[in-house]
Amino acid sequence: MPRPVTRVLSSLPVLALYAVTLLFETPVILVRWLLALLAAALLTLMLHHSAAGAAGLAQYVWLCSAWSVLALITPFGGGWWWKQNLGGREPSERERRAYSDALDLLRQHTLTPLRKPSGWFVLDTPQPDAAVCGNTLMLSRGLLESEHLPAVLAHELGHLATSDGRYTAALNRLVIHPPPRTAEAELAQSRTPVLATNDRFLLTVTLVGMLLWLLRKLVGFAKGGFGLGLTAPFWGSYWREREYLADMHAARLGQAEELADFLEVHALMHDHPVPFVWLTDHTHPPTELRIDRLLKARSLTGRVAPGDVFVKAAPAGPPAAGPDGPAIDKTLPLR
Ligand SMILES: [Zn+2]
Repeated sequence: MPRPVTRVLSSLPVLALYAVTLLFETPVILVRWLLALLAAALLTLMLHHSAAGAAGLAQYVWLCSAWSVLALITPFGGGWWWKQNLGGREPSERERRAYSDALDLLRQHTLTPLRKPSGWFVLDTPQPDAAVCGNTLMLSRGLLESEHLPAVLAHELGHLATSDGRYTAALNRLVIHPPPRTAEAELAQSRTPVLATNDRFLLTVTLVGMLLWLLRKLVGFAKGGFGLGLTAPFWGSYWREREYLADMHAARLGQAEELADFLEVHALMHDHPVPFVWLTDHTHPPTELRIDRLLKARSLTGRVAPGDVFVKAAPAGPPAAGPDGPAIDKTLPLR
């Protein structure tokens, strides 16, 4: 069977899972439409003293879901948004050099061209961390300073070589992430005084409070994630398998031992028992089992190009937390 056909057939189950997730998001879309209708009615009433065009404006809520589906077709726009959301920055000159040296090292182990990200950015955290979303790669400052950069990069290139990045982006986009609230704004809200003077006033305050509570709940629901919650165990199982596959990609790029070493130093200590893991959205398999498979896969390692460059971009950072993996926990309730 031709390779493109087998690739399409093997991607059908995950495509079906995504379709079911999207279907389960229908109540969210309805609540979004209701809130959009309310907001549009208020706006048109204020501007034109009539709510006639409100329904026409509210119908555009479907664009939110279309934005998610678009991630499966093209990585357009996703990288920029993800970078802004995480607070990423452009890499420095020495960070670019470290990245380029790591890629050169990996190229020595393969005859086929490496599939690189369309863009990458740096997260200013001391922990070694990396993730892929769409066709964009995030590397933490801690990882760029670490001797484990080639190994973790090889793992992330494994995600990039498949549809993992596209599905991560599509699932991320099912949830609307408002900009983080500033500490001052939260403090100001907590200080808002409520003065009770008489029963009528108290009743009004209670009714308004209940209305605001309901509105807040509806807005929270409209952010999305209902379908994701229902399908979480299936996605968890899917992502755990994808981690093993990305590890094997790293092994094929000569990084089996190095990635096992990284996991041993930086991830193993963070593992904890996960009761009924098959019911959870836990995205990563037990680190010890990943190490086990990587050590068994050492035979996959082979140098195909001459040279014995050992890449150490910069002095290694302090041993820190942060097992590698899609950093979707910051934006999506997936893990
Ligand atoms: Zn991963």
